[in-house]
Amino acid sequence: MSARILDGKACATELLQAATGRVAQCVVRGAGPCLAVVLVGDDPASQVYVRSKERKAAEVGVATRDHRLPASTSTEELLTLVRALNGDPQVDGILVQLPLPRGVDSEAVLRAIDPAKDVDGFHPENLGLLMLGTPRFVACTPQGCMRLLAMGEVKLAGARALVLGRSTIVGKPIAQLLVQADATVTVAHSRTQALADEVSRADVVIVAIGRPEFIRGAWIKEGAAVIDVGINRLASGRLVGDVEYAAAAERASAITPVPGGVGPMTIACLLSNVIDAAERRLGLH
Ligand code: NAP
Repeated sequence: MSARILDGKACATELLQAATGRVAQCVVRGAGPCLAVVLVGDDPASQVYVRSKERKAAEVGVATRDHRLPASTSTEELLTLVRALNGDPQVDGILVQLPLPRGVDSEAVLRAIDPAKDVDGFHPENLGLLMLGTPRFVACTPQGCMRLLAMGEVKLAGARALVLGRSTIVGKPIAQLLVQADATVTVAHSRTQALADEVSRADVVIVAIGRPEFIRGAWIKEGAAVIDVGINRLASGRLVGDVEYAAAAERASAITPVPGGVGPMTIACLLSNVIDAAERRLGLH
């Protein structure tokens, strides 16, 4: 079997095109969506992420407010900024780029964000709503994975789904979304025994462990759908996922490439969340 490629760039482009129309509707009814971006310190990867988020935002007409702070910023100073953004009626969404510098209490900062402006979906209230099956903001990468599965028309009801990784920002929310889509879900992690056996039983495999090509293609069940969240840069400079792509693509029915799979979806889902927030402010839903 040769897998269908789940093209994240194409799926993201479609979502961003819809976003442009939704932004125009917001502008007609008052003020367009606005995202406040908080970047602390000078981590080069974070600077790249923030730049690409701001560039895509500009493309679809979402305004951004840049808050760049030195690495020496204290938790209290960040909390003061977050509270000011919470109270600013022109700000629909607040994004605090992670990781924050060591010494900053990241949990306290994320919890201080108004849940109605928590477009990353990391606030306990939004994670709780997701758990209850009534989500407000769904974290962007998990949401992107679900949209890719939908694009690929992957059947989830009754399917055996395996989520590799149990982080709060990727693995756990994905597992919840799959349960709500009626899949039978297993969550694997670094203490899981006989991982290859778990993988070989799964109809849908979602991998978010951060280990280059750790999941061997030969483990994949014939006809399974594979979503690879991992982004790993090899010493050669090449970007690879957590799955041995070429070998997995020979067995899977559908698979995401790296790059060009989940990555582009994350930013598109973030902007979609910002527009959702603006639409709620305007009473559009
Ligand atoms: P994380 O917080 O480091 O979590 C990694 C998870 O993988 C943990 O639950 C860990 O288990 C598990 N794990 C580690 N080694 C394992 C092994 N050998 N076997 C089974 N499970 C193992 O990572 P994350 O933030 O979720 O990100 C995961 C990957 O996704 C990274 O490559 C990251 O760069 C990528 N990512 C991509 C996007 C995107 O937009 N495409 C967004 C976010 C993240 P324990 O819990 O037992 O430690």
